[in-house]
Amino acid sequence: MPTTTTMTAWQVRKPGPMETGPLQRVTTDVPRPEPSELLVAVHACGVCRTDLHVAEGDLPVHRDGVTPGHEVVGEVLEVGSEVGSAVEADAGAGFKVGDRVGIAWLRHTCGMCKYCVRGSENLCPKSRYTGWDADGGYAEFATVPAAFAHRLPRGYSDSELAPLLCAGIIGYRSLLRAELPPGGRLGLYGFGGSAHITAQVALAQGAEVHVMTRGARARELALELGAASAQGAADPPPVPLDAAILFAPVGDLVLPALAALDRGGTLAVAGIHLSDIPVMNYQRHLFQERQIRSVTSNTRADARAFLDFAGRHRIEVTTPEYPLGQADRALSDLSAGRIAGAAVLLV
Ligand SMILES: [Zn+2]
Ligand SMILES: [Zn+2]
Repeated sequence: MPTTTTMTAWQVRKPGPMETGPLQRVTTDVPRPEPSELLVAVHACGVCRTDLHVAEGDLPVHRDGVTPGHEVVGEVLEVGSEVGSAVEADAGAGFKVGDRVGIAWLRHTCGMCKYCVRGSENLCPKSRYTGWDADGGYAEFATVPAAFAHRLPRGYSDSELAPLLCAGIIGYRSLLRAELPPGGRLGLYGFGGSAHITAQVALAQGAEVHVMTRGARARELALELGAASAQGAADPPPVPLDAAILFAPVGDLVLPALAALDRGGTLAVAGIHLSDIPVMNYQRHLFQERQIRSVTSNTRADARAFLDFAGRHRIEVTTPEYPLGQADRALSDLSAGRIAGAAVLLV
């Protein structure tokens, strides 16, 4: 049980550009867990571009005054009465007070629709998300349905673990969607939190990685992590790419990314939000069986596979840290492209 009944949290009060102060810091009640949920004391929460989209109104809030944050690392303080029952037998069972736990973006699916049944729960029309439909981790406490809570790999600090929970998981799914052949050449467009983790996964799997990004610091980081080349956001890579992932939310980059693909190559668009894609030229951008694909959220199986991978392969996560009280500054820095790696709020 928490020792306090109130907490500090950030809420999206009036979505709009960061300069207009869309987030408000409030004192509010500590949430009560439902019978199927865990109550978690937040230790760290990653700052994801999706939080920025919610704060700025690119993604309309699903609930007034929602608390953003969906890369939450914390400690279980309370376990709902139904957690660990037969209903939860395959997921979320066995969490107990004191366990380290992760809360990610996906927090509910129906389990019955055709998408859920065929293993594509990321497409469930009834899916719900942390920090969008329900309050997230820009707060001292948060709740999570136990069936959607994650066990975390050992050997990482709270701060290092937080970005793995969205940046890492979504990047991992994007890599699967890009269908990079073994030993292939992978292009990463944009090199923020998700890309710098995904690059390391791809390198560990034997890929040759080429990075296209606007920030000089991000290009340096890419080379330090082992990328074969790093150039400007729309520049052609030195070799044709077997697969590419677009992390930057910039539709204009779809065209150079498609043009950079080798025959049969695939471009996966990782973001939840993308500005409009300009008109394509069939010969230059798609012919020779090049493909473009979106990436929509992730399944719990993706999350488990990635967190398991991170337990077996050390991932170096660059995490500029901010105190919880400066969440608005962290988002402004993200918006202005001032963050190298993945920012984390420490509680
Ligand atoms: Zn469903
Ligand atoms: Zn995210």
